[in-house]
Formats: sequence, C-alpha cells, structure tokens
Amino acid sequence: MELNEYQRQAMRTKGDEKEPLVIAALGLSGETGEVNDHIKKYLGHGHKLDKTYITKELGDILWYIAYMADTLDISLEDIAKANIEKLAKRYPDGFSKERSLNRKD
Ligand SMILES: [Mg+2]
Repeated sequence: MELNEYQRQAMRTKGDEKEPLVIAALGLSGETGEVNDHIKKYLGHGHKLDKTYITKELGDILWYIAYMADTLDISLEDIAKANIEKLAKRYPDGFSKERSLNRKD
C-alpha cells in the first residue's frame, strides 16, 4: 500500500476534535507507550513477544502520525521522503557509529 493511500483511507476514521494536534500528539504518545510496555514485559518480566500485538500497535502509531500530518496538511509520502533525504545526508554510506558520534546536526 502506498503511504498517501494509507493516509487517505486512515483519515476516514478521524473525529472532529477541537484540538486535533493535541489529540494526535497524545494519541501518538499513548500508542508508543503501549509498544514500550509490551517490550518492557518481554524483556523485564519474561512475557512472550507478541508480534501480532506489536503490528497492531505500530499501526495505531502510524494512524496518529497520519492524523497529525493530515492536521498540518503534510502527506505521509512527504514525511517519508524528507526522512530518507535526512538519513542520506547523515549517513551517505549507511549507518556508521563514527558518523553518529561526530554528528553536527
Ligand atoms: Mg493501541
């Protein structure tokens, strides 16, 4: 699925909140917390790692990213392109610990 197509379909289910940026930010944080809690239980409490659960929660994170982007009139494809461009400048030959330690941006 293309990112903009995902965004279009996902936004069929957005509400009409008065403060969509706040709702998007809180939702993003909350869904990230759900993933983090699952990882904590896996690493700290000996629970089984449930990839199906993580897949669903990462989808929730993606939904809130799409919601925030939609609120700001930014496409997911533009976000993805900007991120890849940033990474290409930062790590032109792939990740390097040396470049990471000596980053200037
Ligand atoms: Mg969730």
